[in-house]
Amino acid sequence: MKRLAILGSTGSVGEQTLEVVAQFPDRFRPVALAAGRRIEKLADQVKQFRPELVSVADEAGVEELRKRVGDEVEIRVGAAGLEDVATHPSDLVVAALVGAVGLAPTLAAIRAGRSVALANKEVMVMAGAFVNRTVQEAGVTLLPVDSEHSAIFQALSGQRPQDVARLLLTASGGPFRTWAPERIAKASIEEALAHPNWDMGPKISIDSATLMNKGLEVIEARWLFDVPPERIEVVVHPQSIVHSLVETVDRSVLAQLGLPDMKVPIAVALAYPERLPLDLPRLELAEIGQLDFEEPDLERFPCLGLAFEALAGSEEGPAVLNAANEVSVAAFLEGRVPFPAIAETNAFVLHRHLEERAGAVVDDLDAVVNADAWARVQAREAMGLSPLPGLRGAA
Ligand code: MG
Repeated sequence: MKRLAILGSTGSVGEQTLEVVAQFPDRFRPVALAAGRRIEKLADQVKQFRPELVSVADEAGVEELRKRVGDEVEIRVGAAGLEDVATHPSDLVVAALVGAVGLAPTLAAIRAGRSVALANKEVMVMAGAFVNRTVQEAGVTLLPVDSEHSAIFQALSGQRPQDVARLLLTASGGPFRTWAPERIAKASIEEALAHPNWDMGPKISIDSATLMNKGLEVIEARWLFDVPPERIEVVVHPQSIVHSLVETVDRSVLAQLGLPDMKVPIAVALAYPERLPLDLPRLELAEIGQLDFEEPDLERFPCLGLAFEALAGSEEGPAVLNAANEVSVAAFLEGRVPFPAIAETNAFVLHRHLEERAGAVVDDLDAVVNADAWARVQAREAMGLSPLPGLRGAA
């Protein structure tokens, strides 16, 4: 029986993790769940899975959850609550929070000796080198849940690092793949949220529309697999059947294929090194008929290029880019700025950082937290928004 702690249990990956878990009740037991403000959903999860510990965002959430589930579970709150769930006795922590907020609890889990199934890509984006050192010190394993990284992880199985020539990440191209720049400039929130192949949360859906998601995934791959950025490439593949590929030095290319369903990479991470017999539709290649590939267009989708710039420019660059993007995407989702303002803001903030701090090295987590907070202020200023009362950085 594998005991699971799930950070972000009411989000898209968290819910799908619990769907997989519910199909294998003799193999997995969710013992600790961390949610934010979706209390009704969390209450249902408490009733169904009877965890030992849960955490919620604030005291109002505690009160509401108590009303719904009584005293049947211990409830913690806020950032400390997230860390309590992350370090609760378990065999695997599923890190499925979205954004910078997941960094501290994921590091706490690693330091407590927990292996981590990582869906929260910002953890590696913000502090990849630092996280890798912490993972080595703690002697734990990081298992990718992101579909592309799961594909690469599966394709790398049995390969020696020195035999790997390139990682090829596939990108669906998002909902605006075939749109002209003038049309993209006027894209509505609904149009940007309408991902063609994957059913995901709002933040990552917008990141897919800008290709920022693929940029963040390049950074994530650079650290997860310790491969330098010049050996990572992105290819657009609109059908999302080939989830990513690995080229070896003999020019052989290994791909992982499947119908797009996050339950597959989730199951790979949960059961590793075993496999779970999932009851899902089969991939029938003859029915698919055709797989298309094309170069990404960095002019219409500049966010992808920004990721490579950030990796090359400074160790703080990816954290700066990620924070600027969180702020600009939130502003777009609130209807305060148009779609192109996301890429413009991200570029402005990253370039200002690189002017001031090119080559900056990350020695500790404070450097990441400061870079993140600085970028949030810059991004809000760039979009003409007032500063937040109480900045929410990575701490
Ligand atoms: Mg992905």
